[in-house]
Amino acid sequence: MSRQPNEPATMVLILTPWATEQDMQQLFQRIEDKGLDRVVYRAQVRTHIHVLGDLSGESETQWSAQPGVEQVYGLPKPYPMANKTHRRAHTRIPVGSQQLGSEDFVVIAGPCALESEEQGLEAARMMKGLGIEIMRASCFKPRTSPYSFQGLGVEGLHILSRIREATGILVETEVMDVRDVEIASELVDVVRVGARNMQNFDLLKEMSRIRTPVIVKRGASNSIKEFLLAAEYILQGNENVILCERGIRTFETGYRNTLDVGCVAVLKQETHLPVIVDPSHAAGNKTLVPALSLAGVAAGADGLIVEVHPHPSVALCDGDQALHRFQFENLMRDVRGVAAVLGRRTLPPLSTGFATPGPEPALSVPA
Ligand code: PEP
Ligand code: MN
Repeated sequence: MSRQPNEPATMVLILTPWATEQDMQQLFQRIEDKGLDRVVYRAQVRTHIHVLGDLSGESETQWSAQPGVEQVYGLPKPYPMANKTHRRAHTRIPVGSQQLGSEDFVVIAGPCALESEEQGLEAARMMKGLGIEIMRASCFKPRTSPYSFQGLGVEGLHILSRIREATGILVETEVMDVRDVEIASELVDVVRVGARNMQNFDLLKEMSRIRTPVIVKRGASNSIKEFLLAAEYILQGNENVILCERGIRTFETGYRNTLDVGCVAVLKQETHLPVIVDPSHAAGNKTLVPALSLAGVAAGADGLIVEVHPHPSVALCDGDQALHRFQFENLMRDVRGVAAVLGRRTLPPLSTGFATPGPEPALSVPA
């Protein structure tokens, strides 16, 4: 179990070498006023004060701002549910025949957006044929321009549900509006909070009321702490949270976003939740997707979410970063290789007829 907010803990205040007797008396008074206990260790240079009791309401910045205090250690993390310190096991989330958060390495793949029933079906059959058990396809698209394709909306959710029925593939989609959370949770297998909504707190609260697994993506300008606090909102009621690193905004313009592989490593230390990497929105270009995917596997991610399209050249959204079928097959071969070195289990490939470069297959439906 995670730490309960009122569980006793110890905070250590390390005083500066020049802290005065008056500074110390003020600190003792503050500790007493808050109903906390203290044990004082006077070392040759620095004095340490151990503060004991219910520290759940204490703020590190307030204590470190007190006169005479140099450093503060040991306060409970502000995300007790997401933090792994007091949990014995990692959270495991079943996805098809695999479990995210176990030794299994899970790959979610599919088009950026659901564009039509035909496109979704074609993509689903392609993904299934390659041994992928869960397809991504967004019905609500957060587009920078109001003139860009906005997604099929609620109708898209029904289409995804029919595709699921017809093919047996599981489906994953983004939800942007609190009003769509409930219906999405009934019609799809995994819902997603997109990067732009990572701090849409009403949406996060709504996600805590469902039991469907939620992928929460890191906002392009959010710290790891803010990311974990977003997860904490959902964890208030829904323990099926999957964290997704998808690149952050930096000064670099050589790709779309800077994939923060360090974030993956930090998250694996800090939390028991599964962590996946989205190489596609970090890359912004299909040629960079393989390298970023493998970096994600090597950094310790539990899975990937990759954009793949049956006809990238006519995709209504993110065609530049969508892999062709043969590129995805080649990527999967390499992902399996790196994952195996790290002792991770991947699903075996199913069909391999298209793994060499070739022309994009002809459209089976008009664009
Ligand atoms: C997406 O995955 O479709 C998407 C919009 O990504 P992000 O929220 O990371 O920008
Ligand atoms: Mn996209």
